[in-house]
Amino acid sequence: MHENIEDLTHLKKLDSSTVLQCLKSRYKQKQFYTWAGPTLVALNPLKDVPELYSKRMMQLFAHESFTYKTPHIFALGQRTLRHLQWGLGKTHQAIVVNGESGAGKTCNALYLLSFLAAMETNNNEVPNSNNIEVLLCKSNPLLEALGNAQTLKNENSSRFGKLIRLVYLGEGASTQLVSAHIETYLLESTRVSRQAAGERNFHIFYQMLAGLSDSVKVELDLKDVPVWEIASERDCNAVDEAQFHTTVAALEQLSLEDTTNQLWKLLAALLHLGNVKFVVSKEGSSWTTDQQHHVESAARLLGLNSNELFQMVTVRNFQAGSNSPAVVRPCSSQNECAARRDTLIKLLYRLMFDTVLGSVNQKLQHTNDNGLSTPKYLCILDLYGFESFVYGNSLEQLCINYANERLQYYFTINYLKEQQVHLANEVFFIHPTTKHLTSIETGLNLINLEENVLDKHNLISFLDGPVSVFGVLNEECYLNRGCDDSQVCIRIQSSLTERTKGVKSMPPSPRMPRASKTKAPPVEFAIGHYAGLVSYSTVSMLDKNRDYVPGEMMSLLSKSKSPFIKLLLGKDALIFNATHTMNGRRHTVLAKFKNSLDNLMRILNACDVHYVRCIRPSVSEMQYTLSPSQRWDEDYVDSQLNACGVIDTIKVSSFGYPIRMSHEEFATRYQYLSTSRGDCKIDAKEICRRIAENYPQMASEIRVGNSQMYATEKGIELAERWKLQIR
Ligand code: ADP
Ligand code: MG
Repeated sequence: MHENIEDLTHLKKLDSSTVLQCLKSRYKQKQFYTWAGPTLVALNPLKDVPELYSKRMMQLFAHESFTYKTPHIFALGQRTLRHLQWGLGKTHQAIVVNGESGAGKTCNALYLLSFLAAMETNNNEVPNSNNIEVLLCKSNPLLEALGNAQTLKNENSSRFGKLIRLVYLGEGASTQLVSAHIETYLLESTRVSRQAAGERNFHIFYQMLAGLSDSVKVELDLKDVPVWEIASERDCNAVDEAQFHTTVAALEQLSLEDTTNQLWKLLAALLHLGNVKFVVSKEGSSWTTDQQHHVESAARLLGLNSNELFQMVTVRNFQAGSNSPAVVRPCSSQNECAARRDTLIKLLYRLMFDTVLGSVNQKLQHTNDNGLSTPKYLCILDLYGFESFVYGNSLEQLCINYANERLQYYFTINYLKEQQVHLANEVFFIHPTTKHLTSIETGLNLINLEENVLDKHNLISFLDGPVSVFGVLNEECYLNRGCDDSQVCIRIQSSLTERTKGVKSMPPSPRMPRASKTKAPPVEFAIGHYAGLVSYSTVSMLDKNRDYVPGEMMSLLSKSKSPFIKLLLGKDALIFNATHTMNGRRHTVLAKFKNSLDNLMRILNACDVHYVRCIRPSVSEMQYTLSPSQRWDEDYVDSQLNACGVIDTIKVSSFGYPIRMSHEEFATRYQYLSTSRGDCKIDAKEICRRIAENYPQMASEIRVGNSQMYATEKGIELAERWKLQIR
């Protein structure tokens, strides 16, 4: 019979197989949440469980005493809210939700949000459809339509990270949610122009193709086109049309209905652009297209001149120095034209995403700040989880994994601190003759942890320090000296050979096509992340990092007659011009990403951080057809538990004494070892103490703590043996 308890740190034996068994038996009993000390482990049910998140459940968890016992996402929400309201710990609170793609991060973050929103509505006597909590919930389907896509791992995968910051004013029971802000991280904009096999573009394209009326489609020239290259109508699924109406409703509810038509225009223009292909003109010196009608449509929808648009995509401007005149030259290949076209598509999508988000944030802003009390934040962080593909990990994965690495580092440092506090509070019984000092042993264990911290710190500096992967990639972008993919790879490898601990070179992946039997130049390097070894490909990494937008593209767009395009460019156009003149040293993607993570860490530092670790029980896509036992893939769950630090959390909690039990239980089991058998006046803790006193041989194997008993396996073995002898 396996133990089934609500907090993993109460397991008698704290190792991964016991943890796995416990989680598995809970999963079978539909107990999807479990505490691991202060951390909440959330197993993905892989099916809807409405009863778990009903209004009744919310009310149940709004009741404090219930909260602290039963593991549930609402319990964590309630605990965090209490901390905020009653000023426990730091002023600001954060909930970090992590786990790999498809593990349930976004679902849990949403349940948290709806719970917190419901707590507000309970407080307000008159519910008002313009309340922040209502607006916040309404903005979600819109952001998902624009930023989520179907991937191989998750039908509704968020392709951006987000930090929702709820702003509260007031103290205690009068604390009130007054405003909110949504910050996003690194939208995967490459998806707009190209998707991996079996994956889709952002949902919004399919929603639009499935849901727009015929008359609007005619207006946007969307009728009678056999195939859209960037988002095929054939990939539309059963829910797209319904979702279309949800998105439109969300736009209306956020009073962004003016944006709606502009949005379809822009997205239609992107579809048209995606269909434009390039052919060499008759005289061979320039480019034309046999999809001129797509160019015309795109230009019309974007408010541009179609000739100028086509020119901009197929002709490059060179400028040797800031004083020399610009030289104009047609692109040298079809690929180059296509790359410029894709740059435009991605740029417009990204600007649109940011602009819509900006409008949402404006609605969520607090208007009547009375200035009487200081705001308190409750942040919910839903960042993309650790990603590793067999082949083709690129700049996107590097960023994602780097972000996870930093969060994990943050966790280790902070968890260590918490443990120190816990151990400081745990008074140990000190044996009178052996005088065994527990602090020395716990000290040793903490040193191991310090090493762990150091390891993680080193790895982060391998990634973003002065001599690092980011360092090489940024330098090559700034120098712009035409380094090819394998030269970049060699530089990364060689600049890191001194620091081989975390980074080693890898032979090209076996799936890579190789031109000849001779040793191919390397284009892959590997990094030993905390969650596993990842091999990255340097192919196109520099281009992705540079994220170069030609100056002529911005100047053309700034001539647009469309007010929406003008709105999109907004201050970005100005920023672009300013940074462009700075020796052409625009910020690289990596530099910007590191910067935004530094900011994120500053926010987290000001917060008490609570963790939700999401675990997906199986990779299987046929989730609904499998029985619960088939849905449990032991190795897969184990690797996730390790990766997100659940096992670490529990091991740290054990500090060398993996077996824990209450004083009562220990006293009952081993009462024979105590001299005070039958004396019912003394309490369990005292019996434990006397046992420890009687058996100095056990002094280093069992510990009588103030709150519970701690033992090694050897300690229990000894106790069992003596018990038999005495009997
Ligand atoms: P992530 O954000 O970690 O990539 P999601 O939150 O999008 O993952 O979850 C992936 C899928 O798993 C969801 O679309 C849903 O079908 C299922 N799922 C996740 N969490 C839950 C839950 N708590 N209840 C029911 N289904 C869930
Ligand atoms: Mg998600």
